[in-house]
Order: sequence, then C-alpha cells, then structure tokens
Amino acid sequence: MLLADLRPGQTGVVTKILGHGAFRKRVMEMGFVRGREVRMVLNAPLADPVKYALMDYEVSLRRAEASLIEVMLLEDWEKHEEDSPIAMGEHEENENMHLRRDKVINVALVGNPNCGKTSLFNIVSGAHEHVGNYAGVTVGAKAGKLFYKGYQLNIVDLPGTYSLSAYSPEELYVMRYLREETPDVIVNVVVASNLERNLYLTSELIDMNRSMVIDLNMYDELERSGANLDYKLLGKMLGVPMVPTTASSGKGVNELLDTVIQVYEMKNPDTRHIHIRMSPEVEKSVSVIKDAIKADDTFPQHFSPRYLAIKFLEGDPEVENMLGKSPHYQEWKKLRDEETERIKRVLGEDVTSVIASEKYGFIQGALAEVLEGDTAHEEKSTKIIDSFVTNKLFGFPIFLLVMWLMFWTTFQLGSYPMEWIEAGVGWLSEFIGARIDDGPLKDLLLDGIIGGVGGVIVFLPNIVILYAFISFMEDSGYMARVAFIMDKLMHRMGLHGKSFIPLVMGFGCNVPAIMSTRIIESKSSRLITILINPFMSCSARIPIYVLLAGAFFPTHGTWVFFGLYLLGIIVAVITARLLRRFWFKKDETPFVMELPPYRIPTAKATLRNMWSKAKQYLQKMGGLILVASIIIWALSYFPRVDEDNVPAEYTEAALAEMPTSTLEGMTDEEIKELITHEYQQENSILGHIGRGIEPIVRPLDFDWKVCSSLLAGAAAKEVVVSTLGVLYVGDDDAAALSERLSTPSKATGKAPFNPPMALGFLVFVLLYFPCIASLAAIMRETGSWKYAAFSMIYNTALAWVLAFCTYRIALLF
Ligand code: GDP
Ligand code: MG
Repeated sequence: MLLADLRPGQTGVVTKILGHGAFRKRVMEMGFVRGREVRMVLNAPLADPVKYALMDYEVSLRRAEASLIEVMLLEDWEKHEEDSPIAMGEHEENENMHLRRDKVINVALVGNPNCGKTSLFNIVSGAHEHVGNYAGVTVGAKAGKLFYKGYQLNIVDLPGTYSLSAYSPEELYVMRYLREETPDVIVNVVVASNLERNLYLTSELIDMNRSMVIDLNMYDELERSGANLDYKLLGKMLGVPMVPTTASSGKGVNELLDTVIQVYEMKNPDTRHIHIRMSPEVEKSVSVIKDAIKADDTFPQHFSPRYLAIKFLEGDPEVENMLGKSPHYQEWKKLRDEETERIKRVLGEDVTSVIASEKYGFIQGALAEVLEGDTAHEEKSTKIIDSFVTNKLFGFPIFLLVMWLMFWTTFQLGSYPMEWIEAGVGWLSEFIGARIDDGPLKDLLLDGIIGGVGGVIVFLPNIVILYAFISFMEDSGYMARVAFIMDKLMHRMGLHGKSFIPLVMGFGCNVPAIMSTRIIESKSSRLITILINPFMSCSARIPIYVLLAGAFFPTHGTWVFFGLYLLGIIVAVITARLLRRFWFKKDETPFVMELPPYRIPTAKATLRNMWSKAKQYLQKMGGLILVASIIIWALSYFPRVDEDNVPAEYTEAALAEMPTSTLEGMTDEEIKELITHEYQQENSILGHIGRGIEPIVRPLDFDWKVCSSLLAGAAAKEVVVSTLGVLYVGDDDAAALSERLSTPSKATGKAPFNPPMALGFLVFVLLYFPCIASLAAIMRETGSWKYAAFSMIYNTALAWVLAFCTYRIALLF
C-alpha cells in the first residue's frame, strides 16, 4: 500500500520510495527511510499537506508525495520479520515464498532495439520469448521473475526504443511504463560495440534521475574487435555503474544482478546523479522552465523536473500531456514558447536539434576518454556477405533460393519422420480397433479423435523444420537483409521495409505478426500491413499443403509449396497497392532500416526455439484441435439413422451411382451398410449445414464435406485437415489420410480429390478468411470490427475467384 492510503492512527513501515532521485533524497532526509515506522496523525478531508509522525517528531507531506512512498502495515511487517527466510542460496526458486515488499525489486529492461534485452530476459527469468536479430521483435511488455540472493526480482522486458520521445506507439509505451509502473531499478541495455548511438537513450535516462544500472551487452563482440574500453571509468563519469555481459551465453549476468541489488540498496559507490551539461543558452532555458515546474509542489514526482523541462522544450507530446494536467500549464507553455524562440534566435537552430547534438557531443567526449581502438573491426565479414546478399543483381535470386531450400527441407526432409508418425497413428488405430466393441465409443475414438487429431499431428516435423529455418534466418540477421532488399518493392506498395518484418513473422503465425505491426509509426502503413498479413501463409496451413501436395504431387511438392507462398505474396502486394490507391491515401514517414552485424545463432537458442514450437503445436493438438475434432465428429454422427430408415429412393439412386466393379465384390449386407453410412452422414447436422452452403462452391466442384472442412477451418487452419480426417473415414481406418483422399470411394467410384481439385482447394485455403484468432487480432489492433469484416469478405471472395481460375485452368491439362 502507499503512505497516502494510511488511515488516521494507523502505523506503517516504509518499504520503498519511488519517484526520481532528487525527490527520494529529499524525503529520505526528512526521515522516510526503509524500515522506518510512520504514523498517520491527521487526515482532514481534502487536507493537503497531510501530517505524519516519524519517531518523535511530526512532518507534513503533500498527498502527491505520499503516494510515491510504499508502506506496509506494522502488523504485517512484524509477522514477516518472524517468519522471513534468512539464508538463501543463489537462484533459489520458491513460488510460494512471500518476501517482504522491500525485498522485491521491480526491474525494467530498457534499451535500443536489437541490443539483447530479450536474450537477457530469457536467461534471467527462464522464459522463451522470441529473439531475433532485427528491430521490433518484442511488442508490449513481458514480465518474469527470479529469486536471487534473498530478493525477488520482477523483470520486465520492454520493446526497444532509440529515445524517450513519444514517436512510435512502442516508444510511447516504454515512456508510459516508466511513468506509471515506476520500476525500482532500470537496467539500460547497451551494445558495447555501438556505444555512441546507444548512449543517447542513456543520456535521457540520466536526465530522468532514476536508479539505474547499465548493462554493457555483447561484450564478446567488443573483445573480439580488439578495442579497449575502460567501462569502469565510463560508469563513474556517467554516475551509473556499468556491467559487461554476454546475454546470449549468460556470462556476467550474475554480476549484473548483484549490481542491481547494490543499486537498489543504495550501496553502489559509482551511483550519483550527474547533469549532462549543455550549452549555457540551453541550460538557461532549461532552468527557467525547471524552476517554474518545481514551484508547483503538488505536481507528481515521477520524473525529475529537469527531465520534464528538457522534454517540454523539445515539445514532446507525452510530457506536454502530463504537464497539461496542472493549472499552471498555460504559464509554462508561454514560458516554453518564449525560450524556444530565444534559442532559435540566438543559436540559429531549433531547440530539438540543439539538444540532440549537445548530447551526442557529450557522449563523444566521454567515449574519447575511455575507448581505444575501433569497435567496427568485426563488421568486415558482415560487409563481405552483405555485398552479395544485398546486391542489386543477386539479392533477389539468393532470397528465392533460400526460400526454395526452406520449402524443400520442410517438404522432403520432413516426410521421413512424418511417415514414422503416420505409421504410429495407424498402429494405434488398429490396436484400439481390435480391442473395443463396435459402438459410438469406438467411433468416437477411431473416427473422431484419431481420425481428427492423428491426421494433423503427423505434420509436426514439417512445422518444426520450418520454424528452425525461420528462427535461423532471424537470429543470424539475414532477415533484416531481406527486409532491406524488399524495401524497394515495399515502397512501390506505398509501404516500407519495416512492414516486411510483420509479414515474415506471418509465415509463423499471423496473430503475433499482426501485433508486431506496432513498430510501424505511420497509421495507414500499419493498417495496410495488418490487412495483407493473412495472405502470408501461416504454419497452420502447412498440414493442408503437405497433405494434398504429398497425395497428388509427390514429385513436385516443393514447387507446389513454393508456388503457394509466392501466390500469397503476390496477392498481398496487389492488395496493398489497391488499398493504397483507393482507401488509404499516401503518407510516408522517413525510416531507417538498420542492418545489424551477422551473428551466428547458438545451437542452444535454435534448439530451444524448435522445442518450444513443437510444444506449442502439441498443446494445440491436445486442446483446440481435439475439441474441434470431437465437435465435428458429433455433428456428423448425429442424428443416428437406422438401416431400415433409409428411403427406398435414396438406396436406388445410390445403387445406380455405384460402379459395377465395386458392387460385384461386395455382399448385400456390406452394400446396405455403406449406403446407410452415406445417408447418415449426409443427413447429419453437419451434412445439412455443409449441403446448405455447397451451392456456393459448386463451380469449384467441392462437395459438402470439403465445404464443412473449410468452414471448420475458421477455428484454426489445422482443423481443415482434422475435419477431412473425421469426414472421410474410408473403408480402412488405419490408412493414412492422404491415401483416403486419393483412393476412389466405393459409393461413387470417384476419389474425394483429384489433382486439379487439390490445386483449387490449396489456393482457396491459402487465401480465404483468416482464423478467429487472427480476426480478433485484427479487430484489437485496428480498434474496429470493420477491418476484420473487410478481411473476411475480401479474402474469401478473392479465394473463390482465384481457386476457380486455378481449377479450371488445371482441368485443361
Ligand atoms: P532485443 O531486440 O533487445 O530484445 O534483442 P534480442 O534479445 O532479440 O537479441 C538480438 C540479437 O542479438 C539476437 O540475434 C541475439 O542472439 C543476439 N545477442 C544477444 N545478446 C548477445 C551477446 O551478448 N553477444 C552476442 N554476440 N550476441 C547477442
Ligand atoms: Mg526483444
């Protein structure tokens, strides 16, 4: 609870003091130190300031100040004193342990994009968040915790940001997080071999005057480059301790945690608050505004007045917003406008660029004293690779080759383990089939569960292989190059390279991809990127591709894959151009695409990624897919039909349709059973639904079962396969689904699919409406159901038209 929440007569013990450094110092000098008892004396309604008793004297605090002091009720504190664990080893993990509030440290990771925050977060908290060698991977905040040397560290991984000016939604997010959550210690992650740019953010954090540690990450790269950095001295100069780490291997992380605790306990010798001095003219303006803000002591003390003054001068909209809540805002604004005018007159430059260049000046000056040698040495190999990979001539062919290789591996290499799993599923269904008596239970197990889930689970190896590829490309930095060579193409669509990252993530799953569009500043570019994302063929569609390509184009499977992905991309490009032309008018935000140096991904990280993807897939099988299979099964199983209830006309028509070759090989009993089964399925609940919408897809020659499976695919695209598995039970339960789809059925003499139909179906599946999770993501991210509705209607209409063309053209061959 907060000091401001104490009722008269209640006594609390101070556990934490939030807010900026100068504020903490002042209240600590007044006697509010950790562990000190404070009694609330008087709380007249609306009384401000409020009186508190500290030991034997009384002090008054403003309400705004009292709400930045965390306390614990005295009773609770004493209880904790008795049973708090005293000695604990390193990394002791005990979820149920209740630590006293002052032993809980809230840590926020703040740094430029791609500096290794998520790697650090994963290693510290044991999480498996997505890591990639390009900017914009993390969106929103991820929280994790760790027990370390008697403390509980709550760690939050924030998205990367170059500065604290509210520019993109992500930067705004970081800024708001620092204000509203007031973390106890900020860990500023910087790239050791690229300090000049990274320290800009540091300089802003220093202005903010919060408890801070600098994590000098990727220290391995600095060491390899042969440069020499006196980081201890640099830390002293900045007034912030610096700890070298290599987050990808975990080296130095314990020292970092030790320093975090030291800083939290205010026992770090290097910690002090420095002012990054700017030229006298600017300083003059800053102090005029700072004094004005300081004079209003009801103002919240989350940020130091100096920081607010600098940001206010820069015209930061978020700070403007914060200050706007004060009754003095108009005065301040007038003051600010005068000062910006004056600076412009005197220095001949606008205040934002003056402040930026002075900060860079300070950083360069500091680095000149502590850095020897060139940190850019390592980039040589990067330059050589880049001269090929981003080459005008070779760039695209190399990319296509890599893609082709990716699909070849997914399809061909994946087919071996796939066969093993297929055999396993077949064995299981025989095993169960032989042991359970005929009846609904057996049907549920064999047709519903094994038919549905078993049909999808065999694609696990393909999915894992594809993810391994994507993860390797992301981690090595190749993906950033792809974005770079795509930049031109993207510009033609009225987008830029940055949009490419969410599109590539879409190959994994559209949902996080749609979320990652938050890195895009321009609203219209963001909307377009969101709307074309579902055309990026997600991994959930792979089972469908492997199933049909494997059954009907076993020798050209890779080309079918490649063609589908390419078609998706082409449709996305055309859609983007149309949207830009007719819906969203042009607006270009300037943007720099960073090309990080190549990094060899660790085997550990890649394996971990594969494992977590495999786990996710299995979890999906055991959850959503299982439930969907059972529902589909039930819908197609009920109502039950008796042999004698089949109308005579139906039997006659069915008999007429049956090829004589099958009729001859069957007994009357078998024929009757077959016809009953067909009649039952057609008249089940699902049969009615499927046959109801069948006319819409009749020009494509899809039957009602295919129709139902497409409809069921709204839950998740894998469900298309599991539904096919449930509905096409076939004559041999143990046969693989691909076989069942390609062998002629006894009832009609026709196979459910033939190659042209399969192609049309694949194109349809690639393009038609996104799954429910994607639609929800579109709705959430755009804030409007209209875009989700558009996505549904447009995509499905397009799918219909293109599938129809594909089918009709394929029929000609
Ligand atoms: P974030 O964007 O700040 O969250 O950065 P990530 O954690 O996603 O990491 C960016 C890239 O840097 C990934 O390819 C990591 O494998 C790599 N990386 C992270 N820390 C280190 C490090 O200490 N040394 C080296 N050589 N690479 C690192
Ligand atoms: Mg990250």
